[in-house]
Amino acid sequence: MANSQSYAGNGEYPPSYYAASKTIERQPIRLEGDVEVDICVVGAGYSGLSSALHLAERGYKVAVVEGAAVGWGASGRNGGQVVNGLNASLGTIESRYGANTAKFVGGLVQEGAGIIYDWVDRYKIDCDLRRGNIYAAYTPKHVSELEAKQALWRRYGMDDHEMLDTKAIRSHIGSDVYCGGMIDHSGGHMHPLNLALGEAKALEKLGSVVYEHSPVTKVDQSANGAEVLTANGKVSAKAVLVCGNAYLGNVVPELTARVMPVSTQMMATEPLGEERAHQLLPSGMCVEDVRYILDYFRLSGDNRLIFGGGVVYGGTDPADVIAKLRPNMDKVFPQLADVKIDYAWSGNFALSFSRVPQLGRLGDNVYFAHGYSGHGITGSHLFGRILAEAVNGDLTRFDTFASLPWIPFPGGRTFRAQYSTLGSWWYAFKDRMGL
Ligand SMILES: Cc1cc2nc3c(=O)[nH]c(=O)nc-3n(C[C@H](O)[C@H](O)[C@H](O)COP(=O)(O)OP(=O)(O)OC[C@H]3O[C@@H](n4cnc5c(N)ncnc54)[C@H](O)[C@@H]3O)c2cc1C
Repeated sequence: MANSQSYAGNGEYPPSYYAASKTIERQPIRLEGDVEVDICVVGAGYSGLSSALHLAERGYKVAVVEGAAVGWGASGRNGGQVVNGLNASLGTIESRYGANTAKFVGGLVQEGAGIIYDWVDRYKIDCDLRRGNIYAAYTPKHVSELEAKQALWRRYGMDDHEMLDTKAIRSHIGSDVYCGGMIDHSGGHMHPLNLALGEAKALEKLGSVVYEHSPVTKVDQSANGAEVLTANGKVSAKAVLVCGNAYLGNVVPELTARVMPVSTQMMATEPLGEERAHQLLPSGMCVEDVRYILDYFRLSGDNRLIFGGGVVYGGTDPADVIAKLRPNMDKVFPQLADVKIDYAWSGNFALSFSRVPQLGRLGDNVYFAHGYSGHGITGSHLFGRILAEAVNGDLTRFDTFASLPWIPFPGGRTFRAQYSTLGSWWYAFKDRMGL
């Protein structure tokens, strides 16, 4: 498994609202020299932190090796929307992989959110957690899709959804653009970087170590397990869990064609004050619309509107995030025309061709999880737990996911973004036509 260029710049956080409002400051430790632990994890996003914390709770000594800083990737930049389910719907999973797989997946799609709620409570993580997320519909067809989703989820034993008609959705969102929607009372939202930093702190309290500013250049099998190499150090462990997701580049070439980095953008307004914020989102729930190229938004703890949307396939950043996003925000909330944008930033998530996240094993001792396809806050926490179970000797859930067929992005590294852009254009066209 070979070398690649460093991806992390100087390791500083991008200029996001989250970086500006984080509540935990860290003194980074760099990996220097040789270290031996039970398990080594590459990447301190939610996938890596979740697997590490689950293992540390079981008494393992874990080293997490992060190229930049805790939560530097998607986990510290995202919309903060704790949305249940995988990007691919249960209906898609049912038709593609059969009833048994759908039953298996249906039984665990709320587990990721449960891990977050449990840890926020147990480790007293201060991350402005609030309950409830709303799927907003633009057309009657969207409403029918949500009704079908509610019926499907009920079939799998989940009954936390509440349908909203036009009048009801206006009591949750101060906008005229939606004709209905659905609440998932088991979803929620939070400050994503503070969640990641809180998880890292919990991990360290249990005796494990997070090395930062230490890009991994190579992952190798070894006689007794596996090794992780950086420019100045090496970690030897019984197993290595690769959780670099969209930012891994070509460090583990076997993983490169499995996912494509996709950039998505976010911005945060100036603080709106309690009254104005309440008029926008009276129930304080977060919102995503149900289009393929969607808007997602919520209120921060200090009453800013955090608004995201748009994708760039291949993971490059648009030249001007505000120019791209502001018109979308103005369409939903024209009453915010006078409001200043204080922060704008981009981040990459990893898209898998099937939109189902992947986990698996390379050789005996190198495991990986990635490809949550934009819906990864809950998925990464769940997959981290499943990786930890596997390393601890229980491969039941790991094997079920690892056996799902996956498709490489056609065209390799050169053409995969173009193919996907074409697909995205088609879905955006369908969104515009209300098809
Ligand atoms: C802007 C944005 C908005 C989003 N909004 C939402 C949302 O509202 N709801 C939702 O469910 N999902 C959302 N997502 C997706 C979600 O954030 C991700 O699916 C999830 O955080 C993935 O976690 P991860 O740990 O797998 O990856 P990441 O958080 O990207 O972590 C990977 C880590 O690995 C490190 N790394 C990579 N390569 C190396 C290396 N060679 N050496 C050492 N370290 C390395 C990176 O620096 C990074 O810190 C969003 C994503 C983005 C980008």
